[in-house]
Amino acid sequence: MALLSTTDFPIIINKTDNFSHGRIDLHSHTNCSDGGLSPQTLIDRAVNYQIAVLAITDHDTLAGFDIAQEYISEKNIPIKLISGIEISTAWQGFEIHIVGLNLDEQHTAIQELIVKQQEAREQRAIAIGEKLAKCGFLNAYDDAKNLAAEGSITRAHFAKVLYQQGHVSTMQKAFDQYLGKKGRTTQRAYVKPSWCSIEQAVYAIHAAGGSAVMAHPIRYDLSAKWLRRLIVHFKESRGDALEVVLPQMNPQQRQTMLNYCLEYDLHASMGSDFHYPNKWSDLGRNLILPDGAKPVWAMWS
Ligand code: AMP
Ligand code: MN
Ligand code: MN
Ligand code: MN
Repeated sequence: MALLSTTDFPIIINKTDNFSHGRIDLHSHTNCSDGGLSPQTLIDRAVNYQIAVLAITDHDTLAGFDIAQEYISEKNIPIKLISGIEISTAWQGFEIHIVGLNLDEQHTAIQELIVKQQEAREQRAIAIGEKLAKCGFLNAYDDAKNLAAEGSITRAHFAKVLYQQGHVSTMQKAFDQYLGKKGRTTQRAYVKPSWCSIEQAVYAIHAAGGSAVMAHPIRYDLSAKWLRRLIVHFKESRGDALEVVLPQMNPQQRQTMLNYCLEYDLHASMGSDFHYPNKWSDLGRNLILPDGAKPVWAMWS
């Protein structure tokens, strides 16, 4: 297959862009966490969707990178794979996701953080299983663990178990009724996680030579006042960039995020947060950085 060129995909053209030869998607998941596709199948899909630069950012694991990179090399696929991770952190009672990009996946600082986060995931999964058992769902932990296999165990696995066994009609309802923090019936199987802090996540990402991006700032359900507090805290923690573009964002939200980047001198990132094929979003779709944004990949030149 010929290399992708800007004339094929006139989407990203920016003077500071090293990768001006196709679509860029810096947030995606595989079955190394709660994504539906294997790293290899994700790469095949990325080729079909004309992605030139892809970051796999699974929850608290870097396991997909080597698998995908090996496949890319083996098949000589024209995709630049950026190493990535999405780290769950705790801040003021909220769960904030910090994406690390372009890091040395072997570095001890990130590897040690991953071990702790995986322990936190395992402990929380056991506790969720116990709470679900009290709701009458006896083998939820074992079933979720089977689904997660070697990958990071997430609440999405529990949601899928409840859905597949017919206890809820959609995965969203599993979150609304059992797994989420909010809602009428929720506290039932919600377990407070013991994630690392934002500072610890940024520190480990930087130690490993990467860039720290606040994932999907619009999805935390924060008031404008709290979102600003979060961004100030992220900046004080030496965070590098905000995810300014996600497929579900409207132009006004995008502009608000760009304004925060300009006000706090932060770079901008973009990604689909692809988990599995669905009709609302896909790899690389509708991802264009607004004029005036400093791309996060400008940090890597
Ligand atoms: P965890 O990181 O284990 O808490 O799992 C959260 C994951 O579940 C997210 O990354 C989403 O992919 C997925 N998810 C799907 N629906 C929801 C929801 N309503 N609330 C939270 N997470 C959701
Ligand atoms: Mn997820
Ligand atoms: Mn996330
Ligand atoms: Mn994600």
